[in-house]
Amino acid sequence: MRVLLLSDIHSNLEALDACLAAAPAYDVVFNLGDIVGYGASPNEVIERSRRLGKFFVRGNHDKAVCGLVDIADFNPVAALASQWTHDQLTSDNLEWLRSLPQGPVQIEGLTDVQFVHGSPVNEDEYVVTVGDAVEPLMAAPAVVTFFGHTHLQGSFMLNGDHINSLHPAYRTVGQIESSEFPLKKNLPYLVNPGSVGQPRDGDWRAGFALYDSDTRIVEFYRVPYNLKSAQDRILAADLPQRLATRLAAGR
Ligand code: ZN
Repeated sequence: MRVLLLSDIHSNLEALDACLAAAPAYDVVFNLGDIVGYGASPNEVIERSRRLGKFFVRGNHDKAVCGLVDIADFNPVAALASQWTHDQLTSDNLEWLRSLPQGPVQIEGLTDVQFVHGSPVNEDEYVVTVGDAVEPLMAAPAVVTFFGHTHLQGSFMLNGDHINSLHPAYRTVGQIESSEFPLKKNLPYLVNPGSVGQPRDGDWRAGFALYDSDTRIVEFYRVPYNLKSAQDRILAADLPQRLATRLAAGR
C-alpha cells in the first residue's frame, strides 16, 4: 500500500495544491491534522482534504477552531487566527472538523503502522528532540508511527539503546526534491512527513512524504509553491502580518 502523508496544512491552499501536483501515485491519503489555523484558505483546504479520502487524526488547531479546547493556551497570534478561522468556516466544515478522530489511528491492512498528530502517548505533545522521542518509541505498539505537530520533517529510530534522528538533506532551495529513506525491519520509528503549509526547519518549501508498505521506503518531498499568493491572502484577510512573513523564512 502506498500512503500519501500530509500534515499541518494550516489552511495553506497554494502549498497543498503544489504537493498534490507533485505527489507520486498513491493508494490512500493520511492527513495527520492541523488542517486549519494560521493560513487564509480554511474552507478550501478542508474541502480538498475531505475529497482526498477518509483517513485523519485531529490536530490541536483543529480542536481549538471548533471549540473542543480553550484557546487560552495559544499564543496571541495563533489565538487570533483560530478565532478568524472559526468565523470563516461553513457550519458543515466546522461540524466535520469537530468529528475528526483523536490519534492513534490505524489503517486496515497496515498492522504495524499507526498515525498520530503529536505523539502516540499524547496527541498534543511535541516530539522535537531525541529525548522527546524516547517514551513514544518505547510505548508505541506499532513499529512505525507517523506523526506531525512539530512541522519538522524527519525521523527517529530506536536501535537497542540508541536513538538515531534524521533530517533529510536537500541540494537546492527552490526546486522540487525528494529524499529516499528505507526503514529497517522490526525497529521502531517515528516519522514526520513535514508540514505542508508552514514548515519550520528553515526551508520554505512545502513538505510531505510517501510511505510504501511493500518496500518499507519513506520518500520525503519538498515542493516550491506560490508563496506570494498565500501571503497576499493572509494580508488581505487582515490576519497578523507575521503569519505571512514566516512562510518565506520557513520558520
Ligand atoms: Zn501544526
